[in-house]
Amino acid sequence: MESEEGHASDTTSRYLRTISDLAASGLVSNIELAALGEVIDKFSLSVSPAMRAAMLEASSADPIYRQFIPSIEENKIAEEELVDPIGDETHSPTPGIVHRYPDRVLLKVTNSCPVYCRFCFRRERVGRHDETISKQELHTALNYIANNEDVWEVILTGGDPLLLSPRRLGPIIEHLTAIPHVKVIRLHSRVPIVTPQSISDELVSILDCNKAVYLVLHCNHYQEISEDTREACRRLSRSGIVMLSQTVLLRDVNDTAADLTRLFRELVAIRVKPYYLHHGDLARGTSHFRTTLEAGRQLMREIRGTISGLCQPTYVLDIPGGYGKVPVGPDYLVLDAQHGWRVEDPWGEVHEYDVPGAETG
Ligand SMILES: *Cc1c(COP(=O)(O)O)cnc(C)c1O
Ligand code: SF4
Repeated sequence: MESEEGHASDTTSRYLRTISDLAASGLVSNIELAALGEVIDKFSLSVSPAMRAAMLEASSADPIYRQFIPSIEENKIAEEELVDPIGDETHSPTPGIVHRYPDRVLLKVTNSCPVYCRFCFRRERVGRHDETISKQELHTALNYIANNEDVWEVILTGGDPLLLSPRRLGPIIEHLTAIPHVKVIRLHSRVPIVTPQSISDELVSILDCNKAVYLVLHCNHYQEISEDTREACRRLSRSGIVMLSQTVLLRDVNDTAADLTRLFRELVAIRVKPYYLHHGDLARGTSHFRTTLEAGRQLMREIRGTISGLCQPTYVLDIPGGYGKVPVGPDYLVLDAQHGWRVEDPWGEVHEYDVPGAETG
């Protein structure tokens, strides 16, 4: 990986970044090479050594393989799919900033990631060199935050913000901690999963600052959680960084109640609280990953009645076009003019809650 950005030199084995790397590792067959070349001309490719090691078999039946190894199905662009599925562009006042909600902004500090997930909703931008934020743009973005007193929380994202070296991340965190109205710094990262050895003492000490720091770990399957990941999370939470997780619901990766149960329990057991379960975004070439909303709601229903409340994320949809994220159920409350509020229990039985007419009348 580029010496500018990465910690790849920490690892002994190599990143896989070309179709020939994949072929040489026995991960794709020769007959697919041309079609896969077409895929990665559109969407970046990178597999980290840790994710290569987490694959148990070289087949799309493996949840790690399916997330990171390109598939010819990505050449299929569905009609409803969008270049900018969640409307980042329409809410960007200056390069690097997305300001959709009044009290918080996204600050995209890099457009690179250690790995490229095949379902990524920013797949049109990540890993493209012409999309990298310049020093001047970063300076302007930080000024935008400093001059905007409504910004209570800054969410570092990208790309993956923890891909930045401590030398580059340090000054950004320092800059943010000096802004009085910024009370919370949140990072969205996959690094503790995909390159856990990058969570160095130096990096942890940069995050151990005088603001509340939340790290939202992107993790989709229990097979991603290695001993190195556990150790990285342990050191992060010992430094007072609050750990949450986000999971993308992905067909044939994690769309069973058993897989989600095991994933959420393993996360809670390493002190990571499941925050969001995302319904798949309408990114181009990802229809083979999407489930229906009905299937997602059914899965949430199944885990609600069986596992700890600590293990329950909120199931959300980012409304295409940039209209924001909303919970998409399931719902347990029904208001009916005759009976008032009625509540469904986790097992599907309906109970009356209040007096008819109290809220409807
Ligand atoms: C997802 C997102 C956030 C964070 O939303 P939360 O519900 O606070 O996690 C903020 N800004 C934008 C533009 C987003 O897409
Ligand atoms: S790590 Fe995040 S930003 Fe990077 S490719 Fe995966 S989903 Fe996209």
